[in-house]
Amino acid sequence: MSEKSKAELLKEKLMINGKSALNTADDETIEKAFGFCEDYKRFLDEAKTEREANEVAIALAVANGFEPFISGKTYKAGDRVYFNNRGKAVAFAVIGEKDVEKGVNITAAHIDSPRLDLKPNPLYEEIDMALFKTHYYGGIKKYQWTAVPMALHGVFVKADGTVIRVCIGEKEDEPKFVVNDLLPHLAQEQSKRTLSDGIRGEELNLLVGSMPFKDDSASELVKLNILNILYEKYGITEHDFLSAELECVPAAKACDIGFDRSMIGAYGQDDRVCAYPALRAIIDVKIPEKTAVAVLADKEEIGSDGNTGLNSAFLKYVIGDIAKMQGKDVTVALRASRCLSADVNAALDPTFQDVMERRNAARINRGVCVTKYTGARGKSGTSDASAEYVAEIRNMLDKAGIAWQTGELGRVDLGGGGTVAMYIANLGVDVVDLGVPVLSMHAPFETTSKFDVYMCYRAMYEFCK
Ligand code: MN
Ligand code: MN
Repeated sequence: MSEKSKAELLKEKLMINGKSALNTADDETIEKAFGFCEDYKRFLDEAKTEREANEVAIALAVANGFEPFISGKTYKAGDRVYFNNRGKAVAFAVIGEKDVEKGVNITAAHIDSPRLDLKPNPLYEEIDMALFKTHYYGGIKKYQWTAVPMALHGVFVKADGTVIRVCIGEKEDEPKFVVNDLLPHLAQEQSKRTLSDGIRGEELNLLVGSMPFKDDSASELVKLNILNILYEKYGITEHDFLSAELECVPAAKACDIGFDRSMIGAYGQDDRVCAYPALRAIIDVKIPEKTAVAVLADKEEIGSDGNTGLNSAFLKYVIGDIAKMQGKDVTVALRASRCLSADVNAALDPTFQDVMERRNAARINRGVCVTKYTGARGKSGTSDASAEYVAEIRNMLDKAGIAWQTGELGRVDLGGGGTVAMYIANLGVDVVDLGVPVLSMHAPFETTSKFDVYMCYRAMYEFCK
């Protein structure tokens, strides 16, 4: 082999290497990444809603020594506790050697994903078919949600408080549901609509039955038959829909993508692709120097408002409770704390490259993506992480040999988006976004790279340990 030229050596020293990190990854790392993603795929299938993700995460944590935080009890370094927020959001903590006034290391991901929620009064009959009216949750391209098999997850809560869980359409032999679309032969008018208007909100109606109740003395017999099935299966009546949270999600299972199996396709990877690594990382932490907290939040996809979202006092009170237990002050603790807002970024898509500014776009297989700011237009609606804090994270990643890249969410002035970063930053904490690049984000089936998922886990672990 010939020796490197002067220019080559200088290039190595001064310039960012724009090659896929996967090129230089060793076989052992790739093997570990693939192994980690087998567990991740199982999590995706078991935890399609925030309630399910909350439950599965807590079960895994409890099996690894976590217990519910009890006010008034004293915890020592290495103790593992969790705070369950209404079964929809959860914070896990491993108590550090130093008290919380020295700072807390927080990872924050979300476990809600875009979907179709049922309206409070959803069931109706039209031309001998029974359907559910839905109200979409989060930012979706509505046309993508038609003509794909859907499952129904959630709860009915009866007036006496009894909770009835629903999960139907996930098992092979269970029925599924579907939002039908117009056939192309008769879609001339529809085709003239803009893409965002191609399927309208009030056209997202879920087909749930077509068989009439055997009697000819009443109207709405198909609807009656469905209610009868629901009464027999769940003991509920039409009134119980009023106090229910029922979510229609794609019925498809997580799977490998590509001949080389290098990628994962699944529903709800935004943001389980960061929530799962954050969970695994806090579980793997032993006795950290500083207290580590991993929060899995709800409501991110609709702006983080509400008592299970991160624009609430939930996280502040979690750290407040730990501070109180140590006889320390929560404001001092927050001011000294740092956070990785663990959320996805858009990956550069070979077919749609012009929405990105290529020099600052995240790509799959280049490792975990650090996003200094999100927002829209002139950096509106974001927490712009300080250079000092980004330098700290950069140093941590490089020292641990974790493949990472930076990414901006699309071209300037094209669109934009936000994460929970700004709500945590507003508490006085240093925050930067770090997560996995995703293709087809917010679609019923999203794609990520196994290598990036594993690098996300390694970054979370390195940050908390
Ligand atoms: Mn997200
Ligand atoms: Mn999202």
